[in-house]
Amino acid sequence: MAIDLTDYIATVPDYPEPGVMFRDISPLMADGEAYRYATDQLVDYARGKNVEMIVGPEARGFIVGCPVAYELGVGFAPARKEGKLPRETVKATYSLEYGTSALYLHKDAIKPGQRVLVTDDLLATGGTIAATIQLVEDLGGIVVGTAFIIELKDLHGRDKIKGHDIFSLMEY
Ligand code: AMP
Repeated sequence: MAIDLTDYIATVPDYPEPGVMFRDISPLMADGEAYRYATDQLVDYARGKNVEMIVGPEARGFIVGCPVAYELGVGFAPARKEGKLPRETVKATYSLEYGTSALYLHKDAIKPGQRVLVTDDLLATGGTIAATIQLVEDLGGIVVGTAFIIELKDLHGRDKIKGHDIFSLMEY
């Protein structure tokens, strides 16, 4: 049975700051059927791309990517903020509205030539996903697709990752 996943997104105006419409996926994750329904579609997308490894940025990229990795029987590597990964890493910086931030990936997380799917809950300006893609590519991985629960069209995140395939379950 088809489920309208938009029923499971809570929209919170002016969070975390005035003018932002926060799209909260936690009602979707809290409902077993909706979570599975969403995951199944991401799994189908990943199967079509012959994905061998999944990488997602902390923290909601894990929530989206890990069940897909489990279902496919492939690995998952976390892209994390400063100071979280204990071994040798590669680093990618990206700009935020004020200042910059960085994501890190363990150097041995990806094998050269591996077909990688990058996941996150939401594509906004694209900075986070562009940094995650850069980490994978720095290690010689091939990003064969990107998958999200939500894409915010007005922020034109897809322009930042031109040339990469984008799959999302809903758009605002
Ligand atoms: P961006 O780097 O601008 O594409 O932002 C994407 C990241 O920020 C994702 O990891 C989202 O979890 C979070 N994010 C950005 N904007 C929103 C929003 N309006 N609602 C919920 N999460 C958001």
